[in-house]
Amino acid sequence: MDLVCLDLEGVLIPEIWIAFAEKTGIDALRATTRDIPDYDVLMQQRLRILQEHQLKLQDIQEVIQTLAPMAGAKAFLDDLRANYQVIILSDTFYEFAQPMMQQLAWPTLFCHRLVVNASGTVTGYELRQKDPKRMSVRSLHALNYRIFAAGDSYNDTSMLSEADEGFLFRAPANVIQEFPQYRVTEEYSELRRFIDEAAAR
Ligand SMILES: [Mg+2]
Repeated sequence: MDLVCLDLEGVLIPEIWIAFAEKTGIDALRATTRDIPDYDVLMQQRLRILQEHQLKLQDIQEVIQTLAPMAGAKAFLDDLRANYQVIILSDTFYEFAQPMMQQLAWPTLFCHRLVVNASGTVTGYELRQKDPKRMSVRSLHALNYRIFAAGDSYNDTSMLSEADEGFLFRAPANVIQEFPQYRVTEEYSELRRFIDEAAAR
């Protein structure tokens, strides 16, 4: 039995925080783990900025609603789901991903959760578990699936290494250089071919 695990941001949808920063014009929200490696420091800064701009969860979701998945992503995912079980493994939050998942016809998503108070202000976040991508693939292996995985960045490499076969999709040059063991593609059609070839082995 074969199962495909896909990263979300950078593979099926744009980077949510960057797209959100562009839509709202709040430049300070463009920072990523490349600028601030400590994820908790980065998230606390993001939450502080949201509060400074008095953005509640609903405001944020309305902005995210205007974003679209990457061109071709929906068709790729629909076709893939016709032949494989597919689970999206992401480090985003359900509350942020929701408007995009609707546009992708609600595929299965394993990610994290925001903490929101009664007035709709985002006050914190809750990570589902440590090293979630690796742990997810490991758990799915325990259910007797073969796993093929694709992602675009550093936070995907534990998932790729744990999978039976892993692929880099639209990854930056430094990631491709550091992880030469993974086949690389820029196109959904080629990624699909890679997956089909792996499944045929
Ligand atoms: Mg990504």
